[in-house]
Amino acid sequence: MELWYTEQQTDEVRFSIKVKQHLYTGKSEFQDVDVFESEEFGKFLTLDGLMMVTEKDEFIYHDMITHVAMATNPSIKKVLVIGGGDGGTVRELTRYSHIEKIDMVEIDKLVVDVSREYLPITASKLDDPRVSLYFEDGIRFVADTKEVYDLILVDSTDPIGPGEGLFTTEFYQNCFNILSDNGILVNQSESPYYDQFSHEMKRAHKKIKNIFPISKVYQFHMPTYPSGHWLFGFASKKLDPIKDVDFDKWNALGIKTKYYNPQLHVGCFALPSYVQEMLDNE
Ligand code: SAM
Repeated sequence: MELWYTEQQTDEVRFSIKVKQHLYTGKSEFQDVDVFESEEFGKFLTLDGLMMVTEKDEFIYHDMITHVAMATNPSIKKVLVIGGGDGGTVRELTRYSHIEKIDMVEIDKLVVDVSREYLPITASKLDDPRVSLYFEDGIRFVADTKEVYDLILVDSTDPIGPGEGLFTTEFYQNCFNILSDNGILVNQSESPYYDQFSHEMKRAHKKIKNIFPISKVYQFHMPTYPSGHWLFGFASKKLDPIKDVDFDKWNALGIKTKYYNPQLHVGCFALPSYVQEMLDNE
């Protein structure tokens, strides 16, 4: 008997992966947590039935959420990760020896515990001495913290359930308030392709560009996300991700990446006309 995982991506579109084994199922106060084993994508994590991370394509997402900002500002020392329960974003950050402090604020401890057990490929660096884990709501954390960060990475779920408040003006303003003078915010910016996702992309971008002097969007290919066309927002108080980047400095770090590279860093900000128009018209 065949077993398939199916994600309802829109009312009209489903995405399925053939499954060898349903390794884990559980429920926290926030969401259902499941882990599957598959031939094509290896092990993968879902939350409330929605695809979060797979062993096969996680490198794409975690390269692109981390290295664009880290190459733009070579002096980043203090980083805040909101969400990121699978640990992949923290893993990429720990590759920079000049980073002194990584605070990860993940609302759901179960996601971290399950990732540690089933997804060591992403959760491997959560015990790095520079990493502090806070199991609380990122919305409250950015409103209350007295800490100042050079980089904030919002590695959240979609704007539903606990993730909804991570797409609000208040949240983005609080991120601005706790960023240093050269501060950068990278946020999960959904996708331009299906209406329900492009609606969130436009809303997030509109809010952010009203707060940050520099606000751009960059794209990458994410096979297991709806349409495969996925975006991050790049917002900054001062540094432009293309004009101010020094690739000689980044190359000198000798960080080997499977997806990110300096040419892609520049290219990923070149968006399809229909996407640029959506963002400009907001
Ligand atoms: N890469 C995935 C994606 O793009 O959908 C997301 C990675 S990670 C699994 C997303 C995490 O955000 C989840 O572990 C979830 O518990 C966490 N999260 C959602 N809302 C949150 C909130 N308000 N504060 C902190 N973490 C939150």
